[in-house]
Amino acid sequence: MYTIITENDESAWADETGALYHFPKRYLKFLEPGTNVIYYKGGLKNKSFSKNRLSDAPHYFAIAKIGKTYPDKESSKNDFFATIIDFIPFEEAVLAKDNSKYLETIPDSRKTNYWRDGVRAIDEDTYHLIISKVSPNKVSEQKTAYISDEIAENYQDSLESFSEGKKLKRYVTTYERNPRYRKQAIAIHGNSCAACGFNFGNFYGEYAEGFIHIHHIVPVSELETPKEIDPETDLIPLCANCHSVVHRKKDKTLSIPEIKNLIAYSSKQKV
Ligand SMILES: [Zn+2]
Ligand SMILES: [Zn+2]
Repeated sequence: MYTIITENDESAWADETGALYHFPKRYLKFLEPGTNVIYYKGGLKNKSFSKNRLSDAPHYFAIAKIGKTYPDKESSKNDFFATIIDFIPFEEAVLAKDNSKYLETIPDSRKTNYWRDGVRAIDEDTYHLIISKVSPNKVSEQKTAYISDEIAENYQDSLESFSEGKKLKRYVTTYERNPRYRKQAIAIHGNSCAACGFNFGNFYGEYAEGFIHIHHIVPVSELETPKEIDPETDLIPLCANCHSVVHRKKDKTLSIPEIKNLIAYSSKQKV
């Protein structure tokens, strides 16, 4: 399945290019898990966004795949969001119109309103036609650069004090600090602690709004083989205290039910 997804320069939704994509429910059928997508931007409307784009003209700027889709709990309009995986940005824009001809095939019945749809199913030939305008070498170089940038990004949740082995620490925190996975995990699970319910924004106010640690649930025995992360099942938000307790012992990472039991048991003791 192949689909074009439009990214607007200005959006009411908290979209994150290459991580999260929000859309109205009517597009759900075009965005099934595993769908190959091409990112598209329409013509520039607000000049101040010019510097963030590869071109002011309508263009394609990346390929990716749909991970999973979820109902957006924040939305009152029954909207959805998708996690984006395998994001590869182009180095140069692929213009929507090549030699005065559009790369997408516009059915006669849609001549007047085709571009109004932000999400558009395309056939395999159109997909490959658009991709053929991108130099393959440039794409793969970009991918490497993108991933190392993400990991290098200075994410300031210090996990340094945990008494974990070096290897474990590096492996786990690579995922826990990765901004893309963080955003996906928070969109799916929210930003309250999954063990004790603590919410930084509620407790400290606006200054701490949205702050939370993301914990990678992974049995120590499986750490040797990195696998594709599923933010729904592999990642969970924890407050800084619960996260520290979960990682307290070198040879064991507490599961979420285990730390919940600790909390329930100790609060009972106090009564
Ligand atoms: Zn907690
Ligand atoms: Zn953790």
